[in-house]
Amino acid sequence: MTYNCDVLIIGSGLAALNLAINLDKSIDILIVSNSKLKDCNSYLAQGGITTIKDEKDKELFIKDTLVAGENANDIETINFVSENANKSIQNLVKLGVPFNKDKNNNLIYTKEAAHSTNRILYCDDSSGKVIWKTIFSHIINRKNIDIIDNVEIVDIKSENNNCYGAIGIDENKNIMNFNSKITVLATGGIGGLFKNSTNFNNIKGIGVSIALRHNIKVKDLEYIQMHPTAFYSTNSDKRFLISESVRGEGAYIVNDIGERFVNELLPRNKVSERILKEKKNRNIDFVYLDARHLGKNYLQNRFPKIYNFCLENGYDMSKDLIPIHPSQHYFMGGIAVDKNSKTSMNNLYACGEVSCTGLHGKNRLASNSLLEAVVFSESAANSINKEINSKDPKIINYTNNLFEIKKENIKILIDTFKKIREDLSDEFYSY
Ligand SMILES: Cc1cc2nc3c(=O)[nH]c(=O)nc-3n(C[C@H](O)[C@H](O)[C@H](O)COP(=O)(O)OP(=O)(O)OC[C@H]3O[C@@H](n4cnc5c(N)ncnc54)[C@H](O)[C@@H]3O)c2cc1C
Repeated sequence: MTYNCDVLIIGSGLAALNLAINLDKSIDILIVSNSKLKDCNSYLAQGGITTIKDEKDKELFIKDTLVAGENANDIETINFVSENANKSIQNLVKLGVPFNKDKNNNLIYTKEAAHSTNRILYCDDSSGKVIWKTIFSHIINRKNIDIIDNVEIVDIKSENNNCYGAIGIDENKNIMNFNSKITVLATGGIGGLFKNSTNFNNIKGIGVSIALRHNIKVKDLEYIQMHPTAFYSTNSDKRFLISESVRGEGAYIVNDIGERFVNELLPRNKVSERILKEKKNRNIDFVYLDARHLGKNYLQNRFPKIYNFCLENGYDMSKDLIPIHPSQHYFMGGIAVDKNSKTSMNNLYACGEVSCTGLHGKNRLASNSLLEAVVFSESAANSINKEINSKDPKIINYTNNLFEIKKENIKILIDTFKKIREDLSDEFYSY
């Protein structure tokens, strides 16, 4: 099966949809996704999206982002995001995203760990899903946008460092051939490579694998964020997050013999490291969160979603220890891009979690990734709108064995990550 389009967007998360909606209506766009359209991490985001309220907040946002990222961030990128955040958020509001408001119709801002002020916009505790659905309601009415789901893109088609489309496999193992003037990788993070991750399992870092095979510049691949307190389970391919605030409100972390072994209020990375070490030392698969002393009434009122989730899974937080395990949560590294989301290969862009803009440094500040996705997908759209008419399509044949490349993609990634993050070796699936 062969498809021709002007812009091929690989992925259907927030980066992909926001890019598509900001491209000119005269551009022929095709969105391709490897699963159901909503099987993306954007749909899972609960907390919200950072905004920058005014000049004073801009300074604080820069400081908070640098502190969280341990100063390994790119300061120019942080400035760029802080200058463009408000405009991108206003565009979401114009599209109709119903951020929570007070009774006088003013936006309400919430706060998360390491933000020194309230600056996060949210839609109850389903922010990602609501934003995604709002944009999607516009996408389905756009005549210039086509969508194909359940096609796994395996490789791009390139010649002399120019990209001319991509190639994939559908659910019936048919080869799907896409010719495009411009291709955008919006394939998200790397959670699907891990035995424990809060991410959807279909998100396996294939964009990064493609970059590694084609010598496209990548950056900061060692910066993998683990969340220390995901609910441990063996019968699900995605881990449920137990918010940091449960520890913040006084819950303990204990081992299999009930001993506390870590200061629960250390940063995410440090707590995760200690748990992984304890797990190895004691040869156990998980540790526990102990919130019993906080009391049933308090837990039910303060953490209703988490309390109910645990209950549905056989644990009453007020009586039982909750099994937890550090789980891969976010990827700060990725394909190196400039401020227009351009990669080092001509005609190839990368947007969202698959890209490394330098915003996050070693550690992502909470709620900064949805912001990164909207700011950069918008700058990518502006850039593509300007250059699309100067691009000519070129049909090139793809001669590699796609099924072999599909296997290689995973092997390349796992081997690469195991080398640079030896401490996480046991966390990856075997291939
Ligand atoms: C549980 C959870 C809670 C979170 N909460 C927040 C929050 O409150 N605030 C915040 O800012 N961030 C949050 N994040 C992070 C944030 O959700 C993601 O970083 C962001 O949504 C990434 O958007 P994206 O468009 O880059 O990728 P995604 O939304 O993950 O989409 C990736 C897309 O690529 C497709 N794809 C992947 N591989 C292929 C392939 N080979 N072929 C075709 N398609 C492919 C997938 O099907 C999917 O459609 C959270 C993440 C998780 C997991």
